[in-house]
Amino acid sequence: MSPGGEVGTAVDLAELKARAERAVDQLAGPLEEVARSVHAYAETAFREERSARLLADRLEAAGFLVTRGLAGMPTAFRADWRPAGANARPAVALLCEYDALPALGHACGHNLIAAASLVAGLALRKVLEPLGDRFRGRLSVFGTPAEEEGGGKIILVEQEAFREYDAAMMFHPATQNAAGSDALACVDVRYRFHGRAAHASAAPQQGINALDAVLLFYDAVNALRQQTSPSARLHGIITRGGDAPNVIPDLAETTWIVRERDVESLLPLLERVHACARGAAEATGCRLEAEQGRIYAERVPNAVLESAFARNAARLGLRLEEADPAGSGSSDIGNVSRVLPTLHPYLAIAPVDQPNHSRAFAEAAVSPRGLAVARTAAKLLAATALDLFFEPGLVDAAWRDFRARRRR
Ligand SMILES: [Zn+2]
Ligand SMILES: [Zn+2]
Repeated sequence: MSPGGEVGTAVDLAELKARAERAVDQLAGPLEEVARSVHAYAETAFREERSARLLADRLEAAGFLVTRGLAGMPTAFRADWRPAGANARPAVALLCEYDALPALGHACGHNLIAAASLVAGLALRKVLEPLGDRFRGRLSVFGTPAEEEGGGKIILVEQEAFREYDAAMMFHPATQNAAGSDALACVDVRYRFHGRAAHASAAPQQGINALDAVLLFYDAVNALRQQTSPSARLHGIITRGGDAPNVIPDLAETTWIVRERDVESLLPLLERVHACARGAAEATGCRLEAEQGRIYAERVPNAVLESAFARNAARLGLRLEEADPAGSGSSDIGNVSRVLPTLHPYLAIAPVDQPNHSRAFAEAAVSPRGLAVARTAAKLLAATALDLFFEPGLVDAAWRDFRARRRR
C-alpha cells in the first residue's frame, strides 16, 4: 500500500524504542492522572464529554492538531501529528476507548485504554519530533466513544475515518496476556410486544397478553439453539414484563444479543431469531416492534502486527499466552479490523476469576497493577508503531496479511 520506513538517513530503531520507553516513564504522572480521572467520570456510551475533553486537551497542549467531534459523534475526536503533510505514510492510528458500563463503572478498564493510547501518542511525538524530515509518517490518536453500546468505531468506519491509515492499534485490559484473540460478530435487538390491558381476573378475555408473547419467544429461541452452529451465541433478558399482577400486560419487552463467528453467518441467524419473535406475536395476537442495533463485526487478526507486538513484549520480559478460544466476546474494533490492519492485544490486570465486567475488575482498573500495565501497554504500542514507521517492508507485509485473510 505504501512504502514503509524509507528514510533519508538511517535511524536506530532500537535506540528510538529505548527513548520512547523512557518518555513513557516520564509521563507516568499524567498517565495515572488521566486513568484515574476517566475512571472517576465513569461516563457511559456517547456521554463521555469530560473524558473526551480531557484527552483532547492533553493532545492539543502537546502540539497535536485536534478535531473535536467526528462522524456526528460529539465525544469522538482525532488528534493528528503529520509533519510531512496531509497524506504522509505510513499512517498509524492509536485508538482510545473511554466509555464505562452502566451501574458497574469502568469494569472493562477502558480508562486504561485511554491512558495508554494517549501516553503512547505523546511519547512517540517526543521521540519523532527531533528526527525532522527523517520521519515521513503520520501519527493520529483517535477518541472512539461507545464501545460497550452503540459502537462508535462502527460509525467511524462507516464514515471512512480510517481510509488513509495503514494500521490501527490499542490494547485492552484483560485477565491474560495475549497478542490478539478471536471475537464474534454480534448485534443487539430489542423486541417489544404490544398487547391489550384488561383486568386479569374480572375480564381477562378482553386482554392480549404481551408477557405471554415474550415467554413464547424466549422458548422459541431456546428451541432454536439446538439447530444453530456451535459458534452461535443467543442471550437475552426480559426488560419489561408488566406493571401489576392483576393487569394483563399490554407491553412487554425483551432485549437480546445474537452472535456468530462472522457477519456473513450472523445475518441468517438473526433472521431466524426475528422469525421466533414474529411467531410469538402471531400466536398471541400482539403487535411486534423490533429495534436493531449496529452490527459489530468479527475480528480479523493480523499476524504481522501481532508478531511485532510479541517481539516487543518479549523484549520487556512479558510472556504472552494463546488467547482462550472458548471466551470470545465482541467489540467494535472488529469493524475496524475489516478495513485495515489492526492490532488489539490483551494485558492482564486481574486474575481469571475476576473477569471483565465484574466489580472486582472495575477496582483493578485503578489498582497499582492496572496503572503499571497501562504504562507497559503504552511502551508496547509506541514500540510497535515505531516498527511500522521504520522497519522496511513491515507495513506492506501487514497489508498483505490483511488482504489474504479478507479473501478467505
Ligand atoms: Zn466490555
Ligand atoms: Zn472493553
